[in-house]
Amino acid sequence: MAKDPLQSEFQGSETVVDTACPLDCPDSCSLAVTVSNGKVVKIDGSALNPPTAGYICAKVRKFGDRVYGDARLQYPAVRIGPKGRGRFSRVTWDEALELIASRMLDVREQWGGEAILPFSYGGSNGLLTQDTLDAMVFRRFGTSRLARTVCAAPTGVAAQSLYGKMPSVTYEDYPEAQLIILWGVNPSASGIHLVPYVREAQKRGARLIVIDPRTTPLARQADLHLAPRPGSDVAIALAIHRHLFEEGLADTAFLAAHANGADRLRERAAAWTFERAADTAGVPEAALRRLAEDYASASPALVRCGWGLERNRNGGNAAMAVLALPAVGGKFGVRGGGYAMSNSAAWNITRPWLGPEPATRIVNMNKLGRALMEFDDPPIKALFVYNCNPVATMPDQQRVLQGMAREDLFTVVFDQVMTDTAVFADVILPNTTFLEGYDFARAYGPLSLQLVRPAIDAVGESRSNPDVFGELARRLELLQPGEPDNELDMLVTLFKTLPGTVGEQMEASGRAMPPFGFRPVQFVDVMPRTPDQKVHLFPDALEAEAPAGLYNFQPDPATDAFPLALISPASDKTISSTLGELDRPGVTLLMHPADAARRGLKDGDPIRIFNALGEVQCGLTIEATIREGTVSLPKGLWRKSTWNQMTSNVLVPDSLTDLGAGACFNDARVEVARLPQGKMPSSS
Ligand code: SF4
Repeated sequence: MAKDPLQSEFQGSETVVDTACPLDCPDSCSLAVTVSNGKVVKIDGSALNPPTAGYICAKVRKFGDRVYGDARLQYPAVRIGPKGRGRFSRVTWDEALELIASRMLDVREQWGGEAILPFSYGGSNGLLTQDTLDAMVFRRFGTSRLARTVCAAPTGVAAQSLYGKMPSVTYEDYPEAQLIILWGVNPSASGIHLVPYVREAQKRGARLIVIDPRTTPLARQADLHLAPRPGSDVAIALAIHRHLFEEGLADTAFLAAHANGADRLRERAAAWTFERAADTAGVPEAALRRLAEDYASASPALVRCGWGLERNRNGGNAAMAVLALPAVGGKFGVRGGGYAMSNSAAWNITRPWLGPEPATRIVNMNKLGRALMEFDDPPIKALFVYNCNPVATMPDQQRVLQGMAREDLFTVVFDQVMTDTAVFADVILPNTTFLEGYDFARAYGPLSLQLVRPAIDAVGESRSNPDVFGELARRLELLQPGEPDNELDMLVTLFKTLPGTVGEQMEASGRAMPPFGFRPVQFVDVMPRTPDQKVHLFPDALEAEAPAGLYNFQPDPATDAFPLALISPASDKTISSTLGELDRPGVTLLMHPADAARRGLKDGDPIRIFNALGEVQCGLTIEATIREGTVSLPKGLWRKSTWNQMTSNVLVPDSLTDLGAGACFNDARVEVARLPQGKMPSSS
């Protein structure tokens, strides 16, 4: 490997290390990490990645509290005592890995490889810490395969089907837009570096429209805010399509040249009059009409499709209808026009060294509870969790807890801190953080790829993912001679297999530019990556997959007993559930004053939120910053955040989205009542 020109010395006196943030956030900030005597003393943004502009979020600014906090795992350990009590005894790495290897072999011999379930998600979005040696171990061992669908599955299917995941408008081009629609996204909490670009566009005269059930900070500053009923976004988008088609405002020349399926989309949209869509979404008809007229007339017009709109039974169709808007409206081909979604596929990074995937059983992660409790062909007998905290983050939390408590389930948790999941482990393996090793940080908002460098030595005996999975692969005799089996060799392998000159640029300077530049214009610099380079507005495969068909609406699941829609949006405290171990002020449910008055509730009341699946007990905040009929608890809570150790996910069904088999977090329907006197927590 070539000498890293920006590598800093980090022993001795204070020094600043240039690195990057690989956590699950669109921004991928460039970081300046100050280290003194081998310890991180400050984490700040740098200007090396232009969108970072020298500042970062408060979450990562205090990441040192995770690195050196009480919850940090420093040594391998094995369970002593009953499952779930969180009592462990320290062992050596050799003992821990030998135990894991022997149990994996035992399970495979008795039940088959599919009785082992690897379970991971976005605890790190780094290219080294997921889908490298971990994937090699589990593929070659023949375990069940995990469908990582808890987030971005419906939007991913839509973006792939429509445009082959064509690179989308990046942050730097937002100021060129004359109209920006932020749809189901709150950059003030997740992706803060987008906010100044939106404000700059407004300064230059752009209109801002926000579609969100809550009055987010940017909704307050918007020209128009629509607060739809969760799960009804597809109706709004189809009403805009209908307006475009019926009023002769669709770009027929563009559609003829670059798209197919427009007629079938038009047929499905025809039923969605403004009146019907407004009634379905619970928004004023006049506001919906204004949205459609503004979109039709503005150019450049940009739709930022977020992830809030996908987390329900209609999420895939909503993403399809929203992402299809610029094609029908003729908004491509101009800087600042088109759509913005995840740019994670823009770099075309493949992993040829992984080889083919085996045809083993696929387990949808949103059904973890059911997999642990109900699968019998074969049953799940071993669970290997890393980069993930499923007890806190998966739907149907009660069933997940029951499954995790199974005494006959052998569970490994490889993590940085003692999570809600780790307390159920049989073996705990301590993991390094991104400040203690190499990685690649790939942004999915702006287009950036940066090298993550170690700022400090590993804390305690923690080890990186590639180092641990490499050693496990060796013990299980899964590696061919010369294959990488550790972090540095894997890093070199990645450098060599990155497309084009990206690897060389990364090795030389720690950052790279995509072949189409940092600010591609859709349909000028980049085209759809579908086989025929066309927009596929009505893919037959999706028509077959969606239970009610493509661009069709499934009604709201509310009942008289459980009339309120519960949403759990990203907050400014955690990145998904990462950093949930840190103390946070009392968590409260957000409720509209009219809903509170109907139930005789007052601000600050201790409450129970409940449905047939479970119950959460916490405090209440009453504000008109959320639409009537919808309540909100933050995403990413850990069990300790509520009074009865349950989070919003105990109220979330494990039903799946119409496309992509994603999670339906926003389909939780609940009732809320004041906690009876005798059941009030002492802290209330
Ligand atoms: S979480 Fe996002 S905003 Fe915070 S430092 Fe990482 S990339 Fe930047």
